[in-house]
Amino acid sequence: MTGGAIRLHRLAKSFAGMPAVDGIDLDIPAGQFFSLLGPSGCGKTTTLRMIAGFEKPDSGRIELDGRDVAADPPHRRPVNTVFQTYALFPFMSVRDNVAFGLRYQKVSREETMRRVGEALELVRMDRYATRRPAQLSGGQQQRVALARALVLRPRVLLLDEPLGALDATLRKQLQLELRALQRDVGITFVYVTHDQEEALTMSDQIAVLAEGRIEQVGAPQDIYSAPATTFVAGFLGAANIFDAEIIDVVGGAATCTALGTRLIASVSEDPPAPGAAAVVIRPERITLQDNGTPGGADGNAISGTVKHIVYLGNCTQVHVDVGAAADLVVEVPNRSGPDSVTHTPGQRVACVCTHDAVRVLQRSTSARVADPVIEDPSKTVFKPLAGAPAVTA
Ligand code: ATP
Repeated sequence: MTGGAIRLHRLAKSFAGMPAVDGIDLDIPAGQFFSLLGPSGCGKTTTLRMIAGFEKPDSGRIELDGRDVAADPPHRRPVNTVFQTYALFPFMSVRDNVAFGLRYQKVSREETMRRVGEALELVRMDRYATRRPAQLSGGQQQRVALARALVLRPRVLLLDEPLGALDATLRKQLQLELRALQRDVGITFVYVTHDQEEALTMSDQIAVLAEGRIEQVGAPQDIYSAPATTFVAGFLGAANIFDAEIIDVVGGAATCTALGTRLIASVSEDPPAPGAAAVVIRPERITLQDNGTPGGADGNAISGTVKHIVYLGNCTQVHVDVGAAADLVVEVPNRSGPDSVTHTPGQRVACVCTHDAVRVLQRSTSARVADPVIEDPSKTVFKPLAGAPAVTA
């Protein structure tokens, strides 16, 4: 199978005058695992539904392999969708569920049997071909739903929070399986999730959305280590984000003041202009030292007082009062076990980091939205889609 390339051009959709998707431009290369990541209500599903053809855009273009598909109904687009709710037919066997779509494509019985067998093998469900969906676990049902989508040989597979109804352990296992499956089949996967870790684990590229707009597109490593905006920094993992004033930018270094301290930040392309900005420092990039430690030639040092210490198993978080509204959080790996942090509350410390650990950012207009990861299957949101088979749960 070969993947399809998708290009969205100024795509927009409002509901009752409220923009859900606010004029987005996006290039999704063929054969990539591409995630749309953002908090609840940011427009991920609406974007996916417009690509699938379930929702009509107010304006803009959707191109699949260079062809505008706006006028094509969903079943004429070379895409297929996998939903969070598996939407399997409860009265049919696994084999018949997977074969269902082929009936309408006038595929011969022999070819149907062969393709269904291949699709079930691909998702390691060939041993369960005669079972009914109710006789399968949630993870197995989702594998069947994947086989049913893949058997139609789409060029693009759209996945709308397909692991959202599964418990955390199974979800982690299926994340890796889905990634491997995408590499096997080579088609484009467009994956909607609000789970940062999930997107980082699986994707070739991630588009971070907020309030119907795209904040940043990039590889997981780039989005995490070089967030473009305060929203992206805050949404992807823990981050210390503070107001800063940029004094000057010389060569690859920006000198700024933040937290009452002079900090130096490495800058690469697009150097920031002097003036008001924000800085972000990931907690794992900071080390704690006794107060008075000089920053060194390639170092920054921020003084503060240890406020509290939170043991998290694999690491310990130390919250340091640095005289700002929010504490500076330092993450210490527990390499020496639970006693890896030797400082205690009330102690003066220096929070030390290299220049390249400090990133200068644009302040985003989008507020950071609290968005708890759905760990609990009872919180599953049922979103029946036009054109989807009846939903089973
Ligand atoms: P979630 O992660 O919660 O599914 P999302 O990022 O996928 O969120 P969308 O479902 O695309 O977000 O919704 C974007 C906005 O559009 C939300 O404010 C939502 O309430 C609104 N919306 C979506 N579908 C409809 C609809 N059919 N009618 C009215 N408003 C809608």
